[in-house]
Amino acid sequence: MIPRFLSDFVGLIFPQVCLACEQALGRGEEYLCTNCRMQLPYTDYHLLSADTNPLSRRFWGRTPIRHTLSYLRFLRRGRVQHLLHQLKYRGQRDVGRVLGRWYGHELAQHNFQFDLIVPVPLHPSKLAKRGYNQSDPFAEGMAESLRIPWHAAGLRRIEHTDSQTRKNRLERWENVAGVFEVAALTLIQGKHILVVDDVLTTGATLEACAATLLAAGAAEVSVATIACADR
Ligand SMILES: [Zn+2]
Repeated sequence: MIPRFLSDFVGLIFPQVCLACEQALGRGEEYLCTNCRMQLPYTDYHLLSADTNPLSRRFWGRTPIRHTLSYLRFLRRGRVQHLLHQLKYRGQRDVGRVLGRWYGHELAQHNFQFDLIVPVPLHPSKLAKRGYNQSDPFAEGMAESLRIPWHAAGLRRIEHTDSQTRKNRLERWENVAGVFEVAALTLIQGKHILVVDDVLTTGATLEACAATLLAAGAAEVSVATIACADR
């Protein structure tokens, strides 16, 4: 814990900066400057029906997913890439927490309801290297706004997957099927589970998580990510 006078002093020399553009934050601004907050590429997919939501199409239909949600559109070299880089490689867990809080608030306003949030787990070797799962703070922030619990260890990885690059969709699916297991059966049985991750690309990992949860007795599964990228 840094003494108050010291943190005030540090704040004078290194003012708090926007997590997306690194400009100094003004009075009343927290985490993101007003400009970035207004200009983030929000998908607003939660306003669409499942038939018109373009993300729903990324899932094969073999695993029923109730809501497919993603807060932002991932654009290379844009604000969202910068935010995710801060979250994953710069130890800025606040990025996940605050985006989770805002998104959860937005979903709550549109009457989305879930029973429990479960983040996609990182492989233990990656977890040891990074020190934390980047999906955890997002889960935590969403849980706070949606006023529901989240469980960091709801799912576990049971084997390592090879690099997913240069694999087609079928190979990717086979690569991730059988990778996860449910850690606490009684927690998920009969519940509507929201699985969260940082980025949605093919959806293969999220689908494997959803299939695992449904097979273990979850009533329904929805997915939400901070951002979605083109495949
Ligand atoms: Zn900014």
